[in-house]
Amino acid sequence: MKLDVNALRYLTKDDFRVLTAVEMGMRNHEIVPAELVDRIAGLKHGGTYKVLRNLLKNKLVHHDATKYDGYRLTYLGYDFLAIKTLVSRGVFASVGRQIGVGKESDIFEVATEDGTVLAMKLHRLGRTSFRAVKSKRDYLRHRRSFNWLYLSRLAALKEFAFMKALGDHGFPVPTAVDCNRHCVIMSLVQGYPLVQVKELQNPDDVFDTILGLIVRLAEHGLIHCDFNEFNIMIDDDEKITVIDFPQMVSVSHCNAQMFFDRDIECIYKFFNKRFNLTSEKNEEQAGSESDGEGNSRPSFLSVKKSAGSLDKELAASGFTRKEQVEMEKYIEQDAEGHDSSSDDDDEIGDAVPIDSLKIDQDHCDEPDCNLASRDSGGAGTFSEEHGTSCSGEDRLESPPSGSNGDAKEPLESEGKMLSQEDGDNDSSSNDDDDDEEDAELTKKLNRQRKKAIAAAHGRRRPVSSRNAYKDKGKGTMNSKIQRQACKW
Ligand code: ADP
Ligand code: MG
Repeated sequence: MKLDVNALRYLTKDDFRVLTAVEMGMRNHEIVPAELVDRIAGLKHGGTYKVLRNLLKNKLVHHDATKYDGYRLTYLGYDFLAIKTLVSRGVFASVGRQIGVGKESDIFEVATEDGTVLAMKLHRLGRTSFRAVKSKRDYLRHRRSFNWLYLSRLAALKEFAFMKALGDHGFPVPTAVDCNRHCVIMSLVQGYPLVQVKELQNPDDVFDTILGLIVRLAEHGLIHCDFNEFNIMIDDDEKITVIDFPQMVSVSHCNAQMFFDRDIECIYKFFNKRFNLTSEKNEEQAGSESDGEGNSRPSFLSVKKSAGSLDKELAASGFTRKEQVEMEKYIEQDAEGHDSSSDDDDEIGDAVPIDSLKIDQDHCDEPDCNLASRDSGGAGTFSEEHGTSCSGEDRLESPPSGSNGDAKEPLESEGKMLSQEDGDNDSSSNDDDDDEEDAELTKKLNRQRKKAIAAAHGRRRPVSSRNAYKDKGKGTMNSKIQRQACKW
């Protein structure tokens, strides 16, 4: 997909305010009614509509008038929000060329103020299988999982958490630097994907090392699940780095053995084909690797899962079991119905290298972009339920009061829910307080949304409240109508 960050230079704080309003609206609208965007953004004199036109021109939002006049973020719009936040935090200062394109991600070089080059992975879940997923009725029943923002954010969150934990335990992975929305920043691996390597000095050693890694991961309670020549980087000294972690599972997963065997099989097959390591040779090496008795592949059952359970550690570190389950649901659906087509033509495109670009800090540190939940952004209802983020700072944030004379009532009426600049939040602050705050914020946000929805309906009271007298005490019909109203 094209990522022309040039437009980022020229976006104003109002542009970001409206973009973030669309993101917020997407928490419970696939297409956010224009009135709701206007209400959330709170710009004066129909300013929102003018801004929306500009965002549309820059392909940051998509217009959909099928059912009502509405908008949704494009991946580019979501990219801009994440990039702006990370630049504001000082994580990097410029975006460079595209260095990789995965099945469901785009990878770019980014550079810090002091010139250090890092890798930025933008997750694009749903890109390759959007239609396939959409066509699954069962999946639509769980609409929350269907939200690509939510899924991409979840993938980034998981990737970051796993990369960090694996790095901390001495595994050869990129250094996890930061993460926001669907974007992960990590160290740049100097090397090439193994799939591009035609010759090795010591194929036996590399083979051993790789199998050893699979076994060691399992000993730590984890299975990569996509351990193949595309996700193993190798440098000129034949040093290995493993990448790509969103699909990892715990050894306690019901299909763990199958996943483990599949990872092993991929390596055997690849080394056999590419480096002519015959099966016998492979088996021999694997045997000495696993149990020293020879002639057997590493077997899942014989792996001693005693080196500490990273899977449990991770469950407590920001990527919860519930999120893992949601991810797995998606991965399973994805595996079932692959379809390389997509209906999001404004979001899909060939990889296009982009020139290095210095991002205009003046615009980037506008706190206005922070009126929405920082990490959760509009990513489904994720933050409402889990309230977690890579850096534990996932909170609704606002422009500082008076930062934008035009942006008034709706945001300010949310009072404390709108805190300050990104980096200013103390990520080590008390978790309980955070949870309480989260619940409080969620309540406030829901109230705000209801108000906004009512307003978008012509400032009438919601249907449910107008009919409340009819079924007082029963509530069922009321709540149904209300739910319906919330869904549009
Ligand atoms: P996907 O999940 O879409 O498969 P990957 O994480 O595997 O994405 O990355 C796709 C490609 O991007 C890799 O094959 C590699 O060439 C490149 N890449 C990813 N991460 C890095 C990194 N940290 N440093 C250098 N290149 C990377
Ligand atoms: Mg990959």
